Amino acid sequence: MKYKFAVFIDRDGIINEDVGNLSKIEDLKIFPLTIKAVKLLNKHKIPAIVVTNQPVVARGWVNEQWLNNTHKEIIAKFKRGGAKIDRIYYCPHHPDANLEKYRVVCKCRKPGIGLLKQAAKDFKIDLKESYIVGDSFRDIEAGIKVGATTIAVKTGSSNFKDSKPHIKVKGLLEAVKLILEKEGLS
Ligand SMILES: [Mg+2]
Ligand SMILES: [Zn+2]
Repeated sequence: MKYKFAVFIDRDGIINEDVGNLSKIEDLKIFPLTIKAVKLLNKHKIPAIVVTNQPVVARGWVNEQWLNNTHKEIIAKFKRGGAKIDRIYYCPHHPDANLEKYRVVCKCRKPGIGLLKQAAKDFKIDLKESYIVGDSFRDIEAGIKVGATTIAVKTGSSNFKDSKPHIKVKGLLEAVKLILEKEGLS
């Protein structure tokens, strides 16, 4: 199947509550409205792709297996709510990582665009036609670099610094409704 565009969604502060370096599964609190939002994307066959920086791995607080299990749990929780997250891409690196293995200046840590480019290749989508929804300047700057439409939401850190999001809304559900409207799909 060939899609024209996708909606990229940051994880912490959008999908789930930003507790700052999620490292315990009991701290995973998914915003119920985001399940509704992803369902709406599914209805229109728009890929819902999560792109997330997880320096918590680089710090050595969790390992990648734990992270992958947590992502399986997120996907399962959405599935139980009738929604499908198409894929979760993450960056485990950090330039000041405690663990040497992850101590790199990588291309995938947002505002780097490595995760977006990988997803574009995997899903055969046009990044310029795509949207990115985030709660930080890292999300917004990554989106701007690839020519996507950037949407800032208020459910997370709101650490936007000097970044200039194209659109500002309350949360993911409002963002998705706006995207559908813009695409003539509502
Ligand atoms: Mg975030
Ligand atoms: Zn990385």
